[in-house]
Amino acid sequence: MVIILKENPDPNQLENLLSWIKEQHVTPHITHGLHQTILGLVGDTAKIDIELLGQMEIVEAVRRVQEPFKNANRKFHPLDTIINVNGSKIGGNSMTVIAGPCSVESEEQIITVARSVKESGAKLLRGGAFKPRTSPYAFQGLRDEGIRLLLEAKKDTGLPIVTEIMDLSQLELFADVDVIQVGARNMQNFELLKQLGHSDKPILLKRGLANTYQELLMSAEYIMAFGNDNVILCERGVRTFETYTRNTQDISAIPALKTLSHLPVIIDPSHAAGVARFVPPLSLAAVAAGADGLIIEVHNNPACAKCDGMQSLTMPEFRILMKKIKVMTDARELCSSITE
Ligand code: PEP
Ligand code: MN
Repeated sequence: MVIILKENPDPNQLENLLSWIKEQHVTPHITHGLHQTILGLVGDTAKIDIELLGQMEIVEAVRRVQEPFKNANRKFHPLDTIINVNGSKIGGNSMTVIAGPCSVESEEQIITVARSVKESGAKLLRGGAFKPRTSPYAFQGLRDEGIRLLLEAKKDTGLPIVTEIMDLSQLELFADVDVIQVGARNMQNFELLKQLGHSDKPILLKRGLANTYQELLMSAEYIMAFGNDNVILCERGVRTFETYTRNTQDISAIPALKTLSHLPVIIDPSHAAGVARFVPPLSLAAVAAGADGLIIEVHNNPACAKCDGMQSLTMPEFRILMKKIKVMTDARELCSSITE
């Protein structure tokens, strides 16, 4: 349920309303917009008397929210959520690029890539330490050592780090990680999501290979329901009948998720494409469609990468792509200023 208040609500009346709401055993979430204050009610609102609420002096309108996701719903929180990661702001129509190798392979590799992507303009460094691989015989990641090397790269470059957690037992190792990634395969690992809800770290939540927008938002809701509002949604390609590309980048996910939710939406063109050559056009398409950011795989020697070399850009290719992303971001701003 959403309660829209009249402009400049009287503080005493607001306080009375909030205590009345709490007496109904639901939790109010308050959002102060430029012109409007909105109360989102989470919990069992079935018994709340809508008529009674509507007649209160400070109430402009009351609406029931049909969707099962509340905290992630834009109706609850009309303004874009902007997530601050060590000074880099993700969301609110900015453009943040996260880059780095699929997996951390050695100190030299991660430091080399980190320095290069930073110079090209990336704001965060990615790199997998725990890798979800289809084959148990494939490289599984450097695990604890991988996290340690990422922290070295962070110390060297100052770039905040993003890395994937696969199991709750790994959580302790993530104490100094800046953004915890939940991979596509774990999008519905509800116990993991609940525990991440108790953390205050930003969570980069990837859409599952065959999950709907609503399922993705319900997974975000798990994290938010337990107290962590810092969720970044990531579309990384979905499985379709097409096999020429690894997955199919779902561009509609950008406007759709941004309509349904206030959370930032970023795109992973690398896992969508599966082929390095397709990463630049898919990146630019995502920027044009309004993505808040991109997460791109970059390797110092893709041909020898232990994981996802085929879809990894070289460092010079990434540098060129960053220049194009800048042009496309400027064009997008220009486009949004055209209203008639
Ligand atoms: C990754 O980011 O390297 C990864 C494994 O991603 P996804 O979960 O989207 O497959
Ligand atoms: Mn990868």
